[in-house]
Amino acid sequence: QVRVRFAPSPTGPLHAGGVRTALYNYLFARQQGGQMLLRIEDTDQNRYVPGAEAYILEALQWLGIEIDEGPHQGGPHAPYRQSERKPMYREYAEKLIREGKAYYAFDTPEQLDEMRKRLEAAKVAAAQYNAITRMEMTNSLTLSAEETAGRLASGDPYVIRMKISPKEDIRFNDLIRGWVVVHSSQIDDKVLLKSDGMPTYHLANIVDDHLMGITHVIRGEEWLPSAPMHVLLYRYLGWESTMPQFAHLPLLLKPDGNGKLSKRDADLGGFPIFPLEWTDPNTGDKARGFREEGYLPGATANFLALLGWNAGTEQEIFSMDELISAFSFDRVHKAGARFDIQKANWFNQQYLKQLSEAEVTSSLKPLYQEKNIALTDEQLSQIVHLLKDRVHFVKEIVTESLFLFEAPETYDPEVTLKKWNEEAVNAISGLKDAFVGFEGDFVAHDIKELISKTMETLGIKMGKIMQALRLAVTGAGAGPDLMIIMEILGKEEVVRRLENALS
Ligand code: GLU
Repeated sequence: QVRVRFAPSPTGPLHAGGVRTALYNYLFARQQGGQMLLRIEDTDQNRYVPGAEAYILEALQWLGIEIDEGPHQGGPHAPYRQSERKPMYREYAEKLIREGKAYYAFDTPEQLDEMRKRLEAAKVAAAQYNAITRMEMTNSLTLSAEETAGRLASGDPYVIRMKISPKEDIRFNDLIRGWVVVHSSQIDDKVLLKSDGMPTYHLANIVDDHLMGITHVIRGEEWLPSAPMHVLLYRYLGWESTMPQFAHLPLLLKPDGNGKLSKRDADLGGFPIFPLEWTDPNTGDKARGFREEGYLPGATANFLALLGWNAGTEQEIFSMDELISAFSFDRVHKAGARFDIQKANWFNQQYLKQLSEAEVTSSLKPLYQEKNIALTDEQLSQIVHLLKDRVHFVKEIVTESLFLFEAPETYDPEVTLKKWNEEAVNAISGLKDAFVGFEGDFVAHDIKELISKTMETLGIKMGKIMQALRLAVTGAGAGPDLMIIMEILGKEEVVRRLENALS
């Protein structure tokens, strides 16, 4: 039975990389008929941010990622918040001490600082806390059992550290990267239990994954360096035979591919990297969200799924069910994935096209109301019909249609220069007269016929003046079907606009 977990720390909003991790976990769980757990890793109380957990839940729900067990769903392994599981972790840390696989360390921050300086001065490549430093240091690390007992009894602050044996290869098979081999001399004596009695991420993560029966750990590449130490911890705790399989997902890269994607890139580029808008409770800073920017949840999930994975076919549009059946670790890339917001816009356009005109109309209505533009249902559906397949976002329909409600005050200068010549002026003024005299229904098909007849009489090629006509009616040189635009505007308004342009 496959059991996976998404284990965010509630330190702020989920970014795109986190959401993608949740999504891949979900796809794999559903494909395998397994369970998807949500576990809140909130053991670092300094970094806890109120509202972040609620944000995470809302974001997952918006994207259609369903949780089977978690703090709000409950489940056989509750509680699912690490802060509520505190006593469990100490038990395992103490078991490791009894077995000689961990030890109490009483180093003060000053002593640690001094050690770091000494190592730096000695040009040791990376300041590590390991067996070598343990021996080399003259402080409390080589404490005898009696001394340790004494210091514990007198209430000296301490942490519990893992004792890494200095000479072994640690290996595991990552589902995406293949065999990973690391020598234990590369690994620190990591703190397992902090002086405030809280476990570190490492201890809590391993204990919970074990107790919750997790079979696959699917997470971001930033955790790859910790994985060998986690493998060792499974071994120390005697859980190696049921150790989960690991899959470390590629990083999300800046749009230009140079380095890790950050909020700064998003701010500079004016695009979102968070699923929902987020206001920082401390600074009041706002970050943009896909939802508020007008991306559809299906398009967002589809876009994120393809950041670092593809089906190996030409197919790009996948419903959630299609993603579930197509997903495989074999096709997750090792290299980082470039975050290209244009691609997200393209996905949104494809998903928008799939919506019915009625669906678009209903989300459009309030947007016009906000702008105090009153429209009949007939007008609204004409507008949707005119613009739906031309835009990337529903809200763009509003901006793209503003020219219908306000006659142009300026005209595209480049098009004016090229197309607004004597012949065009003659043609437009001839057309204006023809429109005024026209008695029939002012509908697209008939308008076109009228234009063509008028041009024939004037001896002007229709193709030569169409852009000038568009310019006069809309102010722009390009746009959606001009005949339908004129039909929506109605005869009087079109005539008024032609007169304006000619004056
Ligand atoms: N709490 C970790 C994070 O926020 C979880 C990493 C893991 O999945 O092991 O990314």
